[in-house]
Amino acid sequence: MKSGFIGIIGRPNVGKSTLLNAILGEKIAITTDKPQTTRNSIRGIYTKRNGDDDDCQMIFIDTPGIHKPRNKLGSIMTDMALNTFKEVDVVLFLVDDELSAGPGDKYIVELLKNIETPVFLIINKIDKLDPEKYRRIYEEYNELGVFDEIIGASALSGKNVDALLAKLKSRLVEGPMYFPEDMVTDHPERFIVSEIIREKVLLYLDEEVPHGVAIELESYKEEPSITKIGAVIYCERKSHKGIIIGKEGKKLKGIGKSARLEIEGLLGTKVFLELWVKVKENWRDSDFILNSFGYRK
Ligand code: GDP
Ligand code: MG
Repeated sequence: MKSGFIGIIGRPNVGKSTLLNAILGEKIAITTDKPQTTRNSIRGIYTKRNGDDDDCQMIFIDTPGIHKPRNKLGSIMTDMALNTFKEVDVVLFLVDDELSAGPGDKYIVELLKNIETPVFLIINKIDKLDPEKYRRIYEEYNELGVFDEIIGASALSGKNVDALLAKLKSRLVEGPMYFPEDMVTDHPERFIVSEIIREKVLLYLDEEVPHGVAIELESYKEEPSITKIGAVIYCERKSHKGIIIGKEGKKLKGIGKSARLEIEGLLGTKVFLELWVKVKENWRDSDFILNSFGYRK
């Protein structure tokens, strides 16, 4: 069996989580149209096992979007991504625009020049790129001579995802099966539950609030016919708390309902979900609080 680790890297919103979901065929990484949705490295496990030469296991790590750090959380996120580059067998670098379009991709390319791991460039969202634009993106990146493969794909429609998997497989070497065949992610369900809640908060909120939101599960009780979950939504400002709760609690109710429905789908049981909103000022700049939310250097 061939096996190995693959890091998915790219600017926020370029489609990393969507690609991971397309590969795994199950929703494990949350996706929204707001940047910085993915904060932790989520591992997805793709296993093909028929007892022939084709057998393989690929473990995908969906890293947080890289950008020039502006605060402590930003720099922890970038560090996590950098360590991922060095430890994996292949790096997938996703783009959806020309290199000259903005500073974000240039910053990543500079980082990639200094690692020895093979890097595949994925030009994503080809479903909405016209051929001329695609050609410009391709040529600009190709000239750099940094990439081992350049593949155009659409994570959303699944186009070329199989071709990508085949190319990845050709880079892996014989290795152990790290995880059982039926395991799609090594993250516990509870983590995915808190990510679903965070996704709904982001979807329901105005632009200024989302980055300062974290979820902490306070209670999680599995009973025979229902799972009871209590979660705290932390935000940075008192005014944000009001926005999250909304008029007569309407917004929070909407967040709770859509999160509950999706969690019920994930767990396959009825769910009772209780949400609270609390303010923790500047939590993104505090080591103590970052640790208690599970972010570590
Ligand atoms: P991430 O921040 O890199 O993980 O990006 P997401 O996977 O969360 O995707 C960000 C947004 O881009 C979502 O609205 C996706 O539906 C959209 N998106 C991702 N891949 C594609 C694609 O191949 N084509 C199109 N048209 N949209 C995509
Ligand atoms: Mg993501």
